[in-house]
Amino acid sequence: MTSSERSRPDPVVLEARDVPLGGIRSMSVRRSLPQRDLPTIGAWCFLDRFGPQSTRMRVEPHPHMGLQTVTWPLTGEVRHRDSIGNDVTLRPGQLNLMTSGRGIAHSEYSLGDGEVELDALQLWIALPDATRNSDRAFERHEFLPHAEVRATAGIAGHATVVMGTFAGVTSPATTHTPLVAAQVGVPSGSSLDLPLNREWEHGLMILDGDAAFEPGAASPQPTPGDLLYLAPGHDSIAVSSQWGARIFIIGGEPLAEDLVMWWNFVGRSHDEIALAWEEWQGGSPRFGEVPGHGDVRIPAPPLPTVRLLPRRRAR
Ligand code: MN
Repeated sequence: MTSSERSRPDPVVLEARDVPLGGIRSMSVRRSLPQRDLPTIGAWCFLDRFGPQSTRMRVEPHPHMGLQTVTWPLTGEVRHRDSIGNDVTLRPGQLNLMTSGRGIAHSEYSLGDGEVELDALQLWIALPDATRNSDRAFERHEFLPHAEVRATAGIAGHATVVMGTFAGVTSPATTHTPLVAAQVGVPSGSSLDLPLNREWEHGLMILDGDAAFEPGAASPQPTPGDLLYLAPGHDSIAVSSQWGARIFIIGGEPLAEDLVMWWNFVGRSHDEIALAWEEWQGGSPRFGEVPGHGDVRIPAPPLPTVRLLPRRRAR
């Protein structure tokens, strides 16, 4: 083994787990992040996929702090309302990026009164200590830039650059730490060379279709729903598909901050989380009001009786 091979750790397949989402009957989500021994990939600290399923999504107003939420619909439309007064409908290929700063509240509903076909990713990005107590903000990007991804066989791939820079193309979305997110279409019968930042860690998810990754051919390959984790040390990863696939890729500079994550809050200590709990329960202006919901809101679950501790990585 050469030294460059030694410094290029093997990819690891991380399985998603089913999580019942409180307050929404018949709605199941598959959670890929955080993992028990891997709380973050870059500053990405949460990755859920809900769907594909026929459902009625009604997530009543709830708070966030210390994070950005990235909502990325694959099928169906999601109506977002928040305590800055935004009321927008999000469609596939468009990015809703909500920055909580010290506190925000929002709701997310599917359109109409009945069940609809829905499939979406929701991701959270931990805000760094330097900006996590800033003002709340919301960005909507209806038109994201596209990048061509080099093929080593077949035809070139097509990437939508959601956040950061991918294949030389930069998204207009605001980032607070060095990171990337992109959706890549792998054409049928093609192999692509996905460019990565050697200093960063990455996670790749097959959204649909068939895909095989190299390096990684000798180890188990991810199936849709799994996350393929790449520790720093990779300049690229090859992906090939027989029948065509869509891949979602996240990555970033490993976050050198210990996070205390609980419910919808990202903080640095138990006491910060407990204060946020108290302020949400007490209707503090810290999180604001989401118009159009009356008194309806999701109450915070009881705080655990033990003190919350930072999640540490074992990888
Ligand atoms: Mn939320």
